[in-house]
Amino acid sequence: MIVCPILSGSSGNATYVESGSTRLLVDAGGAGRCIETNLRKIGVDPSSLTCLLATHEHDDHIRGLGVLSRRYNLPIYASVGVWDFLIRSARIGEISKRFIKPFLSVKGDVLDLGDIKATYFATAHDECDSVGYVFDDGKSKFGLATDLGHVTPRVRGSLLGCDAVLLESNYDYQSLIKGPYPYPLKQRILSPTGHLDNEDAGKFVAELVRSGVKYIFLGHLSENNNTERLAYDTVSRVLRESGIEPQTTCKIYMTKRYEPSRKLEF
Ligand SMILES: [Zn+2]
Ligand SMILES: [Zn+2]
Repeated sequence: MIVCPILSGSSGNATYVESGSTRLLVDAGGAGRCIETNLRKIGVDPSSLTCLLATHEHDDHIRGLGVLSRRYNLPIYASVGVWDFLIRSARIGEISKRFIKPFLSVKGDVLDLGDIKATYFATAHDECDSVGYVFDDGKSKFGLATDLGHVTPRVRGSLLGCDAVLLESNYDYQSLIKGPYPYPLKQRILSPTGHLDNEDAGKFVAELVRSGVKYIFLGHLSENNNTERLAYDTVSRVLRESGIEPQTTCKIYMTKRYEPSRKLEF
């Protein structure tokens, strides 16, 4: 399996996943042109994509979905709640009926995407019908969970035992508390249905490493309340406190905001 986050952060998210003849993007939260450019930078022709999946309806995850679907005839998989929003709001423009692929987030079924099977699981995030995914090609498993206020048993059960995981490490607690955000926004981010901070991400990364996860991407960093350094240092410290030396049994990669991150093959 090949995995590469090509956009990551509160400014926009898209992650490329490939195995055999299946080539997909999880989220397309950037301008169509920008996503095409970043795919080409990692040697992927955008016209070779086979499908798109969305985690939820926030703009930093859906901005380029419509353009890419229309340009390359791509089906879009998303939960019923997300599709309901997309159709009502017309946020991503007109999508051909045959490309609308809704699923029930509470059901946690398997999507057959060709050489990759995707399992989705509900995440706790605002009022959204949001999900994370586990991609399985029969040899390797890659799990992705961004935009989650806390790690639910469902999220934990889905991601433990994967080979690689992209996990949100959204904000540094002190930076958020002392920062300029208005109080209601701070409350929203801090809530159990907001975002995961560096400390909680670190604690879950320790669980993931103990379950056998070999590669971690730390992603969806806040532009105002976090830095790559803060996220990496906090997660590394929490790992050491749990008796795990970072970068030994598990490699930790930071994701880039506007550029492709590491292209991982495993
Ligand atoms: Zn987001
Ligand atoms: Zn969100």
